[in-house]
Amino acid sequence: SERESLHIINEFAKEHFKKNMTGTEEGKSIGLSYFVERGFRPDIIEKFQLGYCLNSGTDFTDAAREKGYKLEYLEKVGLVKTKDDRNFDFFRGRVMFPIHSVSGRVLGFGGRTLFTDKKIAKYFNSPESIIYNKSEILYGLYYSKGDIIKYDNCFLCEGYTDVISMYQAGIQNVVSSSGTSLTKEQIRLIKRYTNNVTILYDGDAAGIKASFRGIDLILQEGLNVKVVLFPDGEDPDSYSKKVSTSELENYIKEHTQDFISFKADILLKDDGDDPLKRAELIKDIVHSVGLIPDSITRTVFIQKIAAEFQIQEAVLDSELLKIRKNTL
Ligand code: ATP
Ligand code: MN
Ligand code: MN
Ligand code: MN
Repeated sequence: SERESLHIINEFAKEHFKKNMTGTEEGKSIGLSYFVERGFRPDIIEKFQLGYCLNSGTDFTDAAREKGYKLEYLEKVGLVKTKDDRNFDFFRGRVMFPIHSVSGRVLGFGGRTLFTDKKIAKYFNSPESIIYNKSEILYGLYYSKGDIIKYDNCFLCEGYTDVISMYQAGIQNVVSSSGTSLTKEQIRLIKRYTNNVTILYDGDAAGIKASFRGIDLILQEGLNVKVVLFPDGEDPDSYSKKVSTSELENYIKEHTQDFISFKADILLKDDGDDPLKRAELIKDIVHSVGLIPDSITRTVFIQKIAAEFQIQEAVLDSELLKIRKNTL
């Protein structure tokens, strides 16, 4: 079938990119050394099946065509592009991160450039196809599902390298929504294994903004959500390379916040006593609570907010009612 053909091609590509990285001079000196310089251990490089696509432009295309794979299928999985009647490797010169299904089949790839030129897209991602529905896939889940169940919690990061570095540091209940912004389907996928999500997004404005969005989506699907804010400019990968494993564990333990105190920290900053800012914050929190599907859970949160901000429950209840009327 077509689906099966696309799976076979991705599997072939994964093996080809692995062989390129460890079995060619270019692969070793450019691809492998890139990962080694980033501090990825050999066993982790092997485990995540990382690879490298040679820079020649047609190395993969030629190998795949020689194997007899149809050009049409190679294009459908996004590994081969055609321009002016010439076929070339979409990921040429990039290090490769295979993206697996929950059962371990390769559905697509992320490919990172080795250049720091801001004009070049840092990551290329495989296009959607009949086997790759981005909104329903989480990077790393194939490796982390056992520990997500074991620890009854899922750490949710932004990128491929965050997942790999956390995993290498021994924190193995970790996934990322790499290549797309978080979707409700991805949260439902997590919900098969746990009801608890801890967001570990990048410590920058974009990461904080994405955390606010993630909190609402996760609450809306009926899961518990916590947040760890990393120091300015750090992400789980970069931070894990600066500190020891136990320091990383401690940082996460000590900086895990519920969504209420996370929002308070961000929205109040140094103006904790400003009445208008406090009012905005409380409205923002109540808005998030309003998304929770279960009414008893909503009530528990309202009681907590009332106590924390010393505001009458009745006032919060009427605000909640107003918000739910407007949004649902
Ligand atoms: P690295 O540590 O390799 O620089 P990162 O994961 O920290 O990568 P971010 O810029 O924080 O990169 O982006 C987070 C994720 O968003 C990436 O892992 C990738 O999946 C996706 N992404 C980033 N840049 C692009 C891009 N230009 N095109 C498509 N996806 C991208
Ligand atoms: Mn980022
Ligand atoms: Mn990042
Ligand atoms: Mn990074």
